[in-house]
Amino acid sequence: MKTVRLGKTGLEVTRVGIGGIPIQRPPEDAAIKVIQRALDLGVTFIDTARGYGDSEKRIGKAIADRREEVIIATKGTWQSKEAALEQIDLSLKHLNTDYIDLWQFHNPSTFERLDLILKPGGALEGAKEALEKGKIRHIGMSIHTLDVALKAVTTSHFETVQVPFNFVTIEPANELVSLAKKHNVGFIAMKPFAGGLLDDANLTIKYLLQFDNVVPIPGIEKTKEIEEIVNIVNGSWELTSQEQTKMEKFRSELGTQFCRRCGYCMPCPEGVRIEQLVCMPILWKLWPSKETLSDESIGGFMKASVESAENCIQCGECEEKCPYHLPIREMITKSINLYEKMKKQKKVSATGN
Ligand code: SF4
Ligand code: SF4
Repeated sequence: MKTVRLGKTGLEVTRVGIGGIPIQRPPEDAAIKVIQRALDLGVTFIDTARGYGDSEKRIGKAIADRREEVIIATKGTWQSKEAALEQIDLSLKHLNTDYIDLWQFHNPSTFERLDLILKPGGALEGAKEALEKGKIRHIGMSIHTLDVALKAVTTSHFETVQVPFNFVTIEPANELVSLAKKHNVGFIAMKPFAGGLLDDANLTIKYLLQFDNVVPIPGIEKTKEIEEIVNIVNGSWELTSQEQTKMEKFRSELGTQFCRRCGYCMPCPEGVRIEQLVCMPILWKLWPSKETLSDESIGGFMKASVESAENCIQCGECEEKCPYHLPIREMITKSINLYEKMKKQKKVSATGN
């Protein structure tokens, strides 16, 4: 598999790594096999986080006899020096290793939080102490907020930056990708499948491979997924005109009201199930349209979400928190209208009335 240098870390990683969220879903034995299959296929880069349930533990078990084959990235807190040090020790324990190749601050989503990391006695000091002790080898930043990421790459403190990037979340292509390259900061693309919304591996992976300094880390939970991805990486990366048209079609269908499912608008102080509501039109697309959706299936989930919207007091707090500035209240209204329309068309069950 082709490799790429991860910015100033000097780490040479495969052109595609794997993201560690979905490997929490299968039984542990199966998850370990998936990771080992990825290594067998030549993948050398795995990204996880303290916050991803037992992902670190599973990765630790999978790489127990193969530590030197893999470059491990994980993430931890940004609140304080002590908290960062504590989390690094926990990651080492769960990953069953004595060093972490790349340790990243996990989503300090505002400028204030970035300042908190950088201030004297802040989490950066903790990371640097761990670096000096050899517990971690490089320091990076994983973040969903683009303007904070743009600032972070110019500070010289972070050797890598990780943001959501895919052919519908294209904003990083405008400035961040080239800025990271200019500052020799490695670029890791999280959510290449837009958190599961995109299902065409050929399009998603090939789109990101067009950027020669970007390393996509698709989350995988099945061996056939990583096999397909590795085949794509080992094939031609050229996007055909049909593929480009397909991507354009997808983008225009999603328009400017595309929720990246980052969850930063949550929790709503009034208990509104915001994320589920704003994603409802996409769910309708994903489920078979002719099927009646019973209360026991997705219909019940949608009904509960719509009912929660009755509590909305229009405070706008969610829109302030959304890093993509989505018109959440308008989107919720649209979802409710869509639900009512589906009810009339009897696509939700009678008890859903
Ligand atoms: S506007 Fe409505 S949904 Fe958004 S935070 Fe306020 S109450 Fe919750
Ligand atoms: S509405 Fe905004 S903040 Fe909430 S999950 Fe979607 S993209 Fe994230």
